[in-house]
Amino acid sequence: MKTIAGIFLLTCMASCATVPLTGRKQLSLVDDSQMQQQATLAYKDLLSDPKTKVIKGTADAQMLQRVGSRVASAITTYLKNSGYGNQYNYNWEFNLIQSPEVNAWCMPGGKVAVYTGILPVTKTDAGLAAVLGHEIGHAIAKHSSERASQTMAAQIGAVAVDAATAKQTGITRNLINNLYGVGGQVGLLKFSRDQESEADKMGLIFMAMAGYDPNEALKFWERMANTQKGGQAPPEFLSTHPSDSRRIADIQRLLPQAMKYYKK
Ligand SMILES: [Zn+2]
Repeated sequence: MKTIAGIFLLTCMASCATVPLTGRKQLSLVDDSQMQQQATLAYKDLLSDPKTKVIKGTADAQMLQRVGSRVASAITTYLKNSGYGNQYNYNWEFNLIQSPEVNAWCMPGGKVAVYTGILPVTKTDAGLAAVLGHEIGHAIAKHSSERASQTMAAQIGAVAVDAATAKQTGITRNLINNLYGVGGQVGLLKFSRDQESEADKMGLIFMAMAGYDPNEALKFWERMANTQKGGQAPPEFLSTHPSDSRRIADIQRLLPQAMKYYKK
């Protein structure tokens, strides 16, 4: 990690981005538009795969469209008003996928998948908004590009970094496939603990901006923690999103700030 921090300092002047809402500076060596392009292709592949069952027209599918469009439109408005509009030409899509997996994700570019297995835990519109806010938070904060950038920087070293920022189709395609498990069995997102905290914070604020009470996020994570206590293997979402006492305490601490964005 020390190496990455050093490289970060060396290259930040030339290759840095700022995360909306949190203002954190991050290493950015990956072509963003390319990342979105590759994500769009991977998303299409997944939806058209005969093994993928996309649910349409049910009450659950309508709930996802309703909550998704509310959250997306609040985020789009926020990004536009805070000067980030041109960085996020998102073409939002929300699809409900029939699967026992307790999981959900948002690819760069606003391509969202929610698995039916998570609905018994989200329960309500606000519970679903908590999950969407968090997953979209990862995308808006460009956490997957950041991970790729850190890997690249560690692999090629600081001197070569700028030369390597040219088109990286292979890298972004592989990254998307690895992150979301497209073409494999299960998509396991592995973000760092810091990225998880950042997505939690952004998620709370995004759901509040969309008119959902952020206190419901706390209830969602508590339900998640109880799901874990069932004695079975932890669901996919939990293996990458441990709903432990630290996460819940952090969310509690962030709630007053998120409530400032919540208008009934
Ligand atoms: Zn996460």
